[in-house]
Amino acid sequence: MDLLEHEGKQLFAAAGLPVLPSAVATTAAAAREAATGLGLPVVVKAQVESGGRGKAGGVRVCRDLDEVATAADEILTMTIGGRPVTGLLLEPAVDIELELYLAIAVSRAERAPVLIFSRHGGVDIEEIARNHFEAIVRRPLDPLLGPADYQVRDVLRAAALDGERRSPNGRPLKEVLAAIVRALWRLYHDRDATLVEINPLAVTTAGELICLDSKVTIDDNALGRQPELAESRRDSDVETRARNAGLAYVELEGDIGVLGNGAGLVMATMDQIETAGGAAANFCDIGGGAGAARVKVALSLITSSPRVAAVLVNVFGGITRCDEVARGLLEAFAERSEERRVGKECRSRWS
Ligand code: GDP
Ligand code: MN
Repeated sequence: MDLLEHEGKQLFAAAGLPVLPSAVATTAAAAREAATGLGLPVVVKAQVESGGRGKAGGVRVCRDLDEVATAADEILTMTIGGRPVTGLLLEPAVDIELELYLAIAVSRAERAPVLIFSRHGGVDIEEIARNHFEAIVRRPLDPLLGPADYQVRDVLRAAALDGERRSPNGRPLKEVLAAIVRALWRLYHDRDATLVEINPLAVTTAGELICLDSKVTIDDNALGRQPELAESRRDSDVETRARNAGLAYVELEGDIGVLGNGAGLVMATMDQIETAGGAAANFCDIGGGAGAARVKVALSLITSSPRVAAVLVNVFGGITRCDEVARGLLEAFAERSEERRVGKECRSRWS
């Protein structure tokens, strides 16, 4: 489960990580009011389950309330990374001196959590990771103990902060950074996360370290012991709706929706699409013996993605009755005839 930035920041605050006071809004009027409360200038940020908001124009510094309202209106209608913006987060704007990158993520290859740090954080971190591998500190962690002292020191060395520099409350910046690494580990560990990322972890001109962004993924298999987080799960979340309906649904990056039955057939279908030069937007496995009702739900899940330009149905008529599947499709089409996206011009070679 991917948390939105503002949800992640609530966990950050609870874990003692430094975040700014903030407010969420879903209309321009509410954004104005929030900005008035926070004090100008503010940063208006798209809340969306996607990264790359800065580059897409989803993060704007606003100096007056009219600018806030304009930015809010514009950002709220945006889609970023194929996902619709669902709200806004407003925070006081700060002057950034340096953008650090700090994360803990599961590494399948190392079969361990890894601590990742770079002095060169910010919106170009992917490019840095690709072309300046040496600029990234990567340390596998003991899954029970977390970062060892020497690993924290590795981070401090790579951060190359001025040893004499102190935050406004008099604490050496290096000490603050070490505390942040440890707090991030506690959060990762205690909340059953598979990813906790702060990018940027800003050093402000005032000499403070502040988490300006948050990216948190919680292990779905651990939601049973994270009732508080399971509760906050958004109802509109497609994967949740699928889970509640007993369907396997997975969101991908392409533009072709896939409806099939059985994991094997669905995987083979995806391979065929890929081989033919297409890319799946998502897939939904209706399982064996599905009736019309199930098919209808599956199709509504698949077409709820704004990226879907066509749907490929591949159902094997073993224990599943194909007339039931056809009936489900017809019912779904009848219900959704206005907003039907199927048949829209396909952007891939499948047109
Ligand atoms: P992302 O692009 O989705 O990762 O969104 P971020 O939350 O990381 O924001 C992108 C960039 O916006 C950051 O790297 C900062 O450079 C900038 N930014 C975010 N908050 C502030 C702020 O309070 N003040 C200033 N000056 N820039 C900010
Ligand atoms: Mn970021």
